[in-house]
Amino acid sequence: MNIISDNVKRIAGAQKRLGQNFILDMNITRKIVNFSDLDQESTVLEIGPGPGGLTLAILEKSPLKLIVIEKDERCLEGLELIKQTYSNSVQFDMVHGDALSVIKNILADLCGVIIIANLPYNIASPLLVGFVHQHKHIKKMILMFQQEVAQRIVGKVGTNHYGRLSIIVQAFFKPTIVYKLPPSAFTPPPKIHSAVVSFEPLVSGEDVNIKSLEEVTSLFFSHRRKTVGHIIKKYCQKQSSNIEEFLNPYLNLRPENLSVEVYTHLAQIFKK
Ligand code: SAH
Repeated sequence: MNIISDNVKRIAGAQKRLGQNFILDMNITRKIVNFSDLDQESTVLEIGPGPGGLTLAILEKSPLKLIVIEKDERCLEGLELIKQTYSNSVQFDMVHGDALSVIKNILADLCGVIIIANLPYNIASPLLVGFVHQHKHIKKMILMFQQEVAQRIVGKVGTNHYGRLSIIVQAFFKPTIVYKLPPSAFTPPPKIHSAVVSFEPLVSGEDVNIKSLEEVTSLFFSHRRKTVGHIIKKYCQKQSSNIEEFLNPYLNLRPENLSVEVYTHLAQIFKK
């Protein structure tokens, strides 16, 4: 605990621009890490370690390897101290950079990775979509989001929360909210509540073309008040007649009433 509060002093002031809301209570960070089922064979990736509260809880489990990506230079000295403490037992790689730009290359070289992070909320959704693109390299993810985003991720068909993010994630992972945290769990406290989401990869995701799924959901959800029949008549004329045939039972529904399975099937037809 002391090393973490010393690291917060080294950082000297959380920056909102970097989504810095730190968790200093090791009871909370240990609980988050426990959802990951990591063991001594695991390769773990943490985005935005900050002062290192979650990092320390990960290291206590002695994974084979831990890679952290941190954008804020002010965090590096404190992380280096943590790294030294564990240098005999864990391979610890520190990457100083923007996770949004380096994540693809880093994950490409790894397999069976467990990702654990209290994500910077301002870039949490694009980061998550980036992980989904690399789903083949991921064994499990335990990620903290603001609660409203967590609800969209787990959103069920036909509900207010259901949309592109729900579909793109749920085509590849089974997301579950496992832990809710009030603003007081963070330093400084954010205005919003937060939730930890666990993501289990789905075998069925292997057959889904993500780019095509992004295109289809983008088209349908940019007309979310229109019926499916209207959308395909107006925008899918050039596509194969298979689309009309497949969507025939759903013509009077709106995009939020089509299930993830319907969208993944549509993505397959669009790809052809
Ligand atoms: N994991 C720590 C800090 C969470 S706050 C804890 O739970 O206490 C979010 C962290 O993400 C901060 O350390 C911030 O500097 C870092 N961060 C913000 N944008 C980033 C980016 N684009 N790439 C990598 N790290 C980033």
